[in-house]
Amino acid sequence: MNKAKRQAVIAGNWKMNKTPSETKALIEEMKPLLANADCGVVLCVPFIDVAAAVEAAQGSNIKIGAENVHFKESGAYTGEISAAMLKEAGVEYVVVGHSERRTYFGETDQTVNLRTLAALNAGLKTIICVGETLEQRELGYTENLLKFQTKMALTNVTEEQLKNVIIAYEPVWAIGTGVTATADQADEGNGYVRAAIAEAYGADVAETVTVQYGGSMNAGNCDELLSKVNVDGGLIGGASLKAVDFSKIVEAASK
Ligand code: PEP
Repeated sequence: MNKAKRQAVIAGNWKMNKTPSETKALIEEMKPLLANADCGVVLCVPFIDVAAAVEAAQGSNIKIGAENVHFKESGAYTGEISAAMLKEAGVEYVVVGHSERRTYFGETDQTVNLRTLAALNAGLKTIICVGETLEQRELGYTENLLKFQTKMALTNVTEEQLKNVIIAYEPVWAIGTGVTATADQADEGNGYVRAAIAEAYGADVAETVTVQYGGSMNAGNCDELLSKVNVDGGLIGGASLKAVDFSKIVEAASK
């Protein structure tokens, strides 16, 4: 295992929070705190906030992401946003398959794969979320499920395109609950994801893929989580809405 072979990336997921003016204010507050980061820094914001976020982040080390993307290039899909639209708006990253979309909006492993392909084909970097529910964990399905979700999401993704993929292991029971996986559980889950990538693309390629942990990561627990060999960064919900907390996580990933 060699962490130096991959970039640490801390990505915020703002979920359905912040108006455009609040977006501008929060990014302005974050910019000086994040300026010395020695890792990738991404803020994934609601679609309506993209323009304000891109403008506010201009000239800084903060990259802007979206929280979802439709899988068709264009057409009669009322209310949806395409990868090309995001790209032209200045978006560089997109989250795909977040558990909240799987739970509330009918996202499946097939649609996660289609969205991933649409995003990659448009040149967007893609953060694919995988993770087990508490029931699945207690039944002993975690390894099989994480490997299945990872391989399904990456179906027809080429080795070249994989360079633009980050996988976020997010145990569903740890998202927005305040319950964090232990550092060992996070390392183990991320290890299953990396093993699935190795089975599909080979061990050398798998060593180069950034695998984040997400689930109630915060300023207090980030050091221990990020110290693990398989944890290459984090996907951060609640703590990404607070400039100081988010900057402490970025600082921990920069060590
Ligand atoms: C997330 O939204 O991906 C997430 C990990 O949320 P939180 O950090 O709030 O658990």
